[in-house]
Order: sequence, then structure tokens, then C-alpha cells
Amino acid sequence: LMQLSIPLNFIGFIYREIRQGLTDIEQMFDLLDVDAEVQDAPDAQPLVIENGNIKFNDVYFAYDENRPILKGISFEVPAGKSVAIVGPSGAGKSTLSRLLFRFYDVQKGAITIDGHDLRDVTQKSLRAAIGMVPQDTVLFNDTLAYNIRYGRPDASQEEIEKAAELAQIGNFVRTVPDGFNAMVGERGLKLSGGEKQRVAIARTILKAPPILILDEATSALDTATEQEIQDSLDEVSKGRTTLVIAHRLSTVIKCDEIIVLRDGLIAERGRHAELMKLKDGLYAKMWERQMEATEAEQRLRKAQEAD
Ligand code: ADP
Ligand code: MG
Repeated sequence: LMQLSIPLNFIGFIYREIRQGLTDIEQMFDLLDVDAEVQDAPDAQPLVIENGNIKFNDVYFAYDENRPILKGISFEVPAGKSVAIVGPSGAGKSTLSRLLFRFYDVQKGAITIDGHDLRDVTQKSLRAAIGMVPQDTVLFNDTLAYNIRYGRPDASQEEIEKAAELAQIGNFVRTVPDGFNAMVGERGLKLSGGEKQRVAIARTILKAPPILILDEATSALDTATEQEIQDSLDEVSKGRTTLVIAHRLSTVIKCDEIIVLRDGLIAERGRHAELMKLKDGLYAKMWERQMEATEAEQRLRKAQEAD
């Protein structure tokens, strides 16, 4: 029995790690070692970030050669600035973030960080430099503190608390009887989507990566929660090179550049005010539709409240 219990525990551990690893893309790829798609070059060097300037230079990419997804995409995210990628579902927005993590190699063109081609650096160093706040955060079945500390295992309790404040989750933690020691996850405290996302933001604040990818939640959050999340996202992206994959357009107004993807090409680009001026522009139309949806939602909510 003793002999058996060890491998079983071990399998349990691996299973748990894999399931939980899904919360964190970098970890998942470390763990599963599924880098079959790309290999480090024999002379790959660790990526040394000076400023964190990202460049996509005439990037072509297809998962399947008969169906190109990106057909010559060029843009830059200057160090410390934020660029938003918007566009219809299936346009290739998430693909851009996968290429930045180098889960796949581009088929033409290049992606560079501070002038270093991603194909010349180690994947480990590349992924250590990029933080990701995903659309759907799955928390570990562990304490709140553990879930935040995961961003940087050597962080002190004080640093965890500070990250929690910056991510605007401190007030919530104070309402929980065990505070940071409360268990969360399947058998513990159930957190709302917005709370989970703020835990992920606190984790990323602690990790303090020079480059950030925000893949925003599509789920309809109420306006107050959305504003709180926006505030914590603003906090985490301060001074970091940030690529925002945006579904809710209200979050891209402040971005330094907005890129509208369509059919594998950049259809429009510019700041919010410039894109809004384009009559019959894709961006202006997306805004119009989103405003209508928001108004309809508000009318529905008012009607429900009146009942
Ligand atoms: P977006 O994030 O803009 O909604 P994606 O970048 O996820 O779009 O996907 C772009 C296109 O590539 C979609 O048509 C999608 O079906 C396809 N795609 C995404 N991942 C894969 C994959 N692993 N293999 C084949 N096709 C894929
Ligand atoms: Mg996507």
C-alpha cells in the first residue's frame, strides 16, 4: 500500500498541476513541455530587456497553410506605451499574443523585443518577461495569499497585501473571515468573475513583468465592476509595454494606438478620436453597436428593478 500511495499521490499532483497550470500559460507550457512547435535555437541567448519595445514587422502567419490568418502585419508598441488590438471575432487578435509568446513562429517577417528577434532568444526568458492577464482566471484550490504570491514566490506578506490593494481587491479580502488565508476554488470561497480577475491582476502586479498582455473579459460585467477592473488594469500597466486585446471598447480610449484587424490585415489604426472620425469606419461602427447594446442592457435592468 505504501508503495502504491506514492505514485498515486504523484499522479494526483501532476493532474492537479496540469489542471491548475491552465491558469497560467507560461506555467502550462513549462509543465507540459509541449513546445513541439518551436525549439530554442542552438545559440539562443536569454532575452535582456532594456526598454521593452515590441515590433511586429510584416508578419505573416497561418495555422494551416491554406488559410492565412495574418497577411503582413506591422506595428510597434513603444516601450511603456499601450496598444489595443480590436476587430471581429476570429480576426487573429489572440493569435498575435500567441506569436508574442512564441507558441508559434511567424512564417514571414519578424517579431522583435528591443531589437532581438524572438527566434534568437530562449523561450524561458521570453515568457518570464511577459505577464498575461487572461480572459478567464481559474484559481488554485488554495489560499488567496497563495494565489497572489504565485506571481512571485518569494514575495513577503506585506508585498502581497500591497499588490492586493493596487488591484482593488483589498476591500474584498477584509470582508472575508480568514482574509488572505481563506481557501478559494472549488471547495472554498467562490469568487465572482471580477474578483478572480482582480486576483490575477494582483498576481501580475507582483510578478512585475516589463511586458504585459491583457486579454479582456467578454463576459458582461456590471458598470461598477468594470470601472474597478479598469482602474486596476491601469495600475498594472503603468510604465509597462502593454498589448491590450480588447472586447469592451470603453477600455481602449486611453490607449496610445488602436489597431483594427480585419481579414488578416490592419483595416484602421490610430487613436480613439481619430478612428471615431472615420465615417463608416469599422471602429466607429463597433462603437455604435456597443453603445446600443449597453443601452439595451440598461433598459432591461431598469425594467427588472421596477418589477
Ligand atoms: P480572435 O482572438 O481575433 O477572435 P484568434 O486569433 O483566436 O481570433 O483566431 C484567428 C483564427 O485562427 C480563427 O479563425 C480561428 O478559428 C483560427 N485558429 C485559432 N487557433 C487555431 C489553431 N490552433 N489551429 C487552427 N486554427 C486556429
Ligand atoms: Mg481571442
